[in-house]
Amino acid sequence: KEKLLEIKNLKTSFFTHVGEVKAIRGVDFDLYKGEALGIVGESGSGKSVTSMSIMKLLQHPGQIIDGQILFNGEDLVRKSQKQMQSIRGNKISMIFQDPMTSLNPVYTIGDQIMEAIIKHQKLSRQDARKKAIDMLRIVGIPSPEKRINQYPHEFSGGMRQRAMIAMALSCEPELLIADEPTTALDVTIQAQILELMKELKNKLNTAIILITHDLGVVADVCSRVIVMYGGLIMEEGTVEEIFYKPRHPYTLGLLKSIPKLSDKKDKQRLVPIIGSPPDLLKPPKGCPFAPRCEYAMRICLNKVPNYTYVSQTQRSMCWLLHKDAPVIDAINKDLK
Ligand code: SF4
Ligand code: MG
Repeated sequence: KEKLLEIKNLKTSFFTHVGEVKAIRGVDFDLYKGEALGIVGESGSGKSVTSMSIMKLLQHPGQIIDGQILFNGEDLVRKSQKQMQSIRGNKISMIFQDPMTSLNPVYTIGDQIMEAIIKHQKLSRQDARKKAIDMLRIVGIPSPEKRINQYPHEFSGGMRQRAMIAMALSCEPELLIADEPTTALDVTIQAQILELMKELKNKLNTAIILITHDLGVVADVCSRVIVMYGGLIMEEGTVEEIFYKPRHPYTLGLLKSIPKLSDKKDKQRLVPIIGSPPDLLKPPKGCPFAPRCEYAMRICLNKVPNYTYVSQTQRSMCWLLHKDAPVIDAINKDLK
């Protein structure tokens, strides 16, 4: 397996008038070519800031303050905005929750896809048009020859999301970052869009980073998962490990708060995690989850735990996995 992306000790802060908000506090992970990786967590966990850091699209006053983002071995952190322009939309594309943020209402869908194609590939207008029609067909938009001349408002929400995926993939990027791509859509359309992403990943061998608060979405598309909280990675593992052998109380909490995959209608069992995420203006000294964790010990409040590798592919940042941690029956039952 060849590495496409290596993130090393990434730290991103927002320098606001009330102080430095440490949104990402040292994040490391790898992404392999053609792989789909899920990043999950509640809002404010740092998952969107991670993707905006990779794209170098952080809004003022956001800034990468440390670390490396190696894309095919080249550090994006050191690239100028000008250099990034030839990478964004070309080698790395992004889709968002709301397609209207990426689609311009005053241009036709066709013009927008063609513009992206012409900008990054040396194609004539005519060939770009053909390619745009092909892409709309690939993403399952019916009669693309006609649809290509329509404006975004003439598309339904699901169709707009498909058009945005067509635009994002028209330059055959090596990496597609999808930030909550289906959150605004109803369940049926959501399933169709996820199916489409899976299909395109296999067809075009595009690596995907799928960012979502919904673990169920991740299980459908991804092979590996990163769980973020308080600007740190709490746990990382394969989909099987995260779903069936979670070793972090926060992951367990997320799992309990989603409908069981087998019976999505059984809302009875849902248990929300009580409390709210830490204030990253004053990040906690210890484990960021400690105030909400039912297993918290004294050391949890004072010191951030190191990662414990529980398998070759799974690591977890929790004091419970320390060799001297107390053995608690409840923990054994829930986490082991
Ligand atoms: Fe809970 Fe402590 Fe583990 Fe944090 S380190 S998740 S507070 S047990
Ligand atoms: Mg977000």
